[in-house]
Amino acid sequence: MPCLLPDTLAALSGETPADVRMVTPPAAFGAPDGTVRRAGGKAVYGDDLTFHLDGLNFTVQWEDATIDGDRAAAILAELEDAWTALVVEGGWPAPVSSETWLLRVVLDADLGGSGYTTVYATDAYPEGYPVTYLNPVYEGDRPAYGLSVAVHELGHMLQYRLRDTSRGRSDSWFWEATSEWVAERAAPELDTYADSTYWYAQWPDARFDRVERFHLYGMLLLDAYLDERVFGFDGIRDTWIAGEGRADPWDMLIAETTGADFGALIAAMAAEVAAGTLREGALYEPPVRVATHAEAPEWEIVDAPERYGTHYIDIGGGGAGLVVAGDVWVGYATDGAILDAPPDGPFTLVLTALTDDEGEVGYGLTPPVDTPIEAPEGCACAAPVGGSGALAVGIAAAVARRRRLLRVPAALSAPTP
Ligand SMILES: [Zn+2]
Repeated sequence: MPCLLPDTLAALSGETPADVRMVTPPAAFGAPDGTVRRAGGKAVYGDDLTFHLDGLNFTVQWEDATIDGDRAAAILAELEDAWTALVVEGGWPAPVSSETWLLRVVLDADLGGSGYTTVYATDAYPEGYPVTYLNPVYEGDRPAYGLSVAVHELGHMLQYRLRDTSRGRSDSWFWEATSEWVAERAAPELDTYADSTYWYAQWPDARFDRVERFHLYGMLLLDAYLDERVFGFDGIRDTWIAGEGRADPWDMLIAETTGADFGALIAAMAAEVAAGTLREGALYEPPVRVATHAEAPEWEIVDAPERYGTHYIDIGGGGAGLVVAGDVWVGYATDGAILDAPPDGPFTLVLTALTDDEGEVGYGLTPPVDTPIEAPEGCACAAPVGGSGALAVGIAAAVARRRRLLRVPAALSAPTP
């Protein structure tokens, strides 16, 4: 989903805006008179555009007469339903300004992406009130897609209330991951959010907070995991609330609200992805494999993933006794189950990196022990590896020390409510 939120956060933190409206409101938005109140008692903040449809909480507006009014009506209805799910029933704090004013959603068929949401500061709302822009013809042959984008953007309206924009683009990964999941939770019949797992699947060994190549949309898998296996959708909401007014990065906030090691959460998510055991896992794109083996290898070396990125390795059989060396969390998944140890039958080896070190990870049945090389600070994982496949002195000990079996803490293994 090419939502332009990362560009918008960058613009709001001082970078040159990709679209001037990311930081400068259209003139019509600047002069609220509040005299025209609509059915729900709320008014439009500023002047109406040429065309508008009003609900109880949103006003969908546009200038281009070729935009389909039925499409606008469908978007408005979806937004009002999502408001009920998220704000009325879900307990998300309502967006800034929405207690008095209709939330404005502008349809613009010339938008460079599927949509974005920004905030405009005024004397009354120095923190900024939100406005959403949607492209009503983006993937126009898939009406559900556009409706899902609208709900996704409502997610951003809610997020702006709780998170300031000073961290810019680098903060956007959890905004996008969560808004994708918000679209699923507020409009579960649409399911187009699941398309975004493709962007994780193409680059699973990327650092967890990468904003390039749409990876951040694929990180909705973390929200799915947190929701279904850790603390429910309320826990995701409470993570956003816990971060209000704080500068802490998302990995720290998520570790705090879950009470778990952030890397362990990502590793457990990855094992669920490999096993296909998340609730809608059948809709999710399988991650690319960094390697595939018909039989468990004697010993293989791969470059480590980026921090909290994951390698998925398919092994066709003979894996009992397989060991892993490296600064990684290790998981074992079959189709439909996560195991405590590598099985003899087919499975997927799941390796999630703990660090940003440009190290290597070894795996197989027989770690080499015959060629000693220096291992700085006793860590075999970061040692250079010769062409002969040699690894560090005492590799078996290193395996024992460096390898971490993936075990989800008991507090995290409660069944989905
Ligand atoms: Zn977005």
